[in-house]
Amino acid sequence: MSSHRAMCSPCDRPTSVCLCDTFPKPPVQLLRCHVLILLHPLERKRKNSTLPLIRRCLDAESLDVIVGRRLLDSQSLPPNTILVFPGDNALSLFEVAPGSTLLFLDATWDHAKEMVRTLPKDLPRVSLKISELGPLFVPRRFDIRTPPTEECLSTGECIAWAVDAMEGAQGALAATLLRPLDRMVSIWHTARSLREEGEANVTLTTHAQGAIL
Ligand SMILES: [Zn+2]
Repeated sequence: MSSHRAMCSPCDRPTSVCLCDTFPKPPVQLLRCHVLILLHPLERKRKNSTLPLIRRCLDAESLDVIVGRRLLDSQSLPPNTILVFPGDNALSLFEVAPGSTLLFLDATWDHAKEMVRTLPKDLPRVSLKISELGPLFVPRRFDIRTPPTEECLSTGECIAWAVDAMEGAQGALAATLLRPLDRMVSIWHTARSLREEGEANVTLTTHAQGAIL
């Protein structure tokens, strides 16, 4: 018997947990903003990362990724770049001019705070305010990881809701972009309950054997 699991090449996952049917076809083209990600090198190796899912949902012109803990001297930010990160003087997304580039940091919370310190001090900031996201917002949607607070979203959620606001989509675009994430979370919960059931059966069997012996 082969030990290799059949893989789906477009989504790079085992075929049993393929997400291909959840990606929009064709990928979404953003008309009023551009997305730029500064991706911490360690984040690339994380399981259940949400960024690859968003990348598959957006077309190539709408999103760029730079891998690094900081920007190199040769890497300048496009004009009208706005960092999406909490801060005292952060604007609301609804105040951002169309055509802006939204810069996101894909990293752990601690790494992200380090990365912010390397960025230009005068870079404008916006923060996602949950209260502004409308009735379709679902808190704790990505419950594979426990966020430090309700306001902390996964990278995928953060991008989805920010571009939804910029495009004036009133939740419809976020719903499209978060379909793969929802499926990934549901697969993860199913796998976990199967694993727990398996462990419970093993415990029962062990106890039963103990009783016979
Ligand atoms: Zn697939």
